[in-house]
Amino acid sequence: MPAPLIAHSRPTLDAQDARVVAKVVRSGWLAQGARVEEFERRMAAFVGVRGGVAVNSGTAALKLALLALGVKRGDEVILPSYVCAAPWLAVHQIGAVPKLVDIEPGSYTIDPIRAKKALTKRTRAIIVPHLFGLPADLTRLQALHVPLIEDCAQTLGATEQGRPVGSVGVAAVCSFYATKLLCTGEGGMLLSRKAVVLERGRVLREYDEEPLLVPGAFNRKMTDLQAALGLSQVRRLRQFIRRRRAIAEMYRKALASAGVGLPVIPKGRTHCFYRYVIRLQDGRHSGLEKVMARLDRRGVQCHRPVFRPLHRYLNLKGFPESEEAHRTALSLPIYPSMTDRMVRRVVTVLREELA
Ligand SMILES: *Cc1c(COP(=O)(O)O)cnc(C)c1O
Repeated sequence: MPAPLIAHSRPTLDAQDARVVAKVVRSGWLAQGARVEEFERRMAAFVGVRGGVAVNSGTAALKLALLALGVKRGDEVILPSYVCAAPWLAVHQIGAVPKLVDIEPGSYTIDPIRAKKALTKRTRAIIVPHLFGLPADLTRLQALHVPLIEDCAQTLGATEQGRPVGSVGVAAVCSFYATKLLCTGEGGMLLSRKAVVLERGRVLREYDEEPLLVPGAFNRKMTDLQAALGLSQVRRLRQFIRRRRAIAEMYRKALASAGVGLPVIPKGRTHCFYRYVIRLQDGRHSGLEKVMARLDRRGVQCHRPVFRPLHRYLNLKGFPESEEAHRTALSLPIYPSMTDRMVRRVVTVLREELA
């Protein structure tokens, strides 16, 4: 009999999660209401900002952030190539121009030097994804004096120079998609320390019962069903992160001599290990696809941590760090409900298949 599959990612759900959602069903109030407001307050408190605007996805939150900052058609927005398609789509869909830059060597996060070189008179914002649980170099990005939108879809509870991610930029966005650090199925949030950004975000989130017809407004609302689940999850978020860090520590010890590159944590930053991403050796290991297929046959599901860098979709050249990450980065299973035994199994299979 084959060993049971160890999934790449799983939401962490318990009986209390089920109870709070059932309670909303019984209450008869399903749409955006008191639970959504409470979830916004809890997330804002977790990140350390003034408030939040809950929406139906992380992508919607990105669009809302851009619109709330007044980014318009023809404006330029800088973002890294090595990220999922959501930030590019958000910029493109509001009529602004996405300007791709490469990542730092090692950290997978946007390179501040390359971001600086991409600045023009029309640059209105930089989208800063904190990838895989590691904050980007916010200090050097802040020195560029362009509004920063922190993409915290993969990173919460981690710090850069002691500052929690999401609290540094003029706006931040979260995703509560099923595989993220905390989940509501689908969902997202705009967070900000600035009242004006939050107010603009709220006006654009819905279309009805507003004093004016706002052209950018749309239905991006979250439901109380989702928010109740989010509230139940955020109460356990610190605990989730502790478990993720403990699993990462097990991987670090067990893989130190395995001939693979381990996650690098630059000085002044902390990691929440949304993903545990190792680097295969370009020459010695026989291609990512083949390694993934072999691991999969042994019941260990590993993924590329970014499906395809944006410059590849767009046929652009000159992104050597993103290219190398695409060629060599492998994301191992990591989630709070993984047992120590499952972690050991991943290590054993990985060592055998890479030997
Ligand atoms: C998941 C994710 C998004 C998009 O969030 P959705 O809720 O799926 O729309 C945006 N940015 C990053 C870095 C993500 O990981």
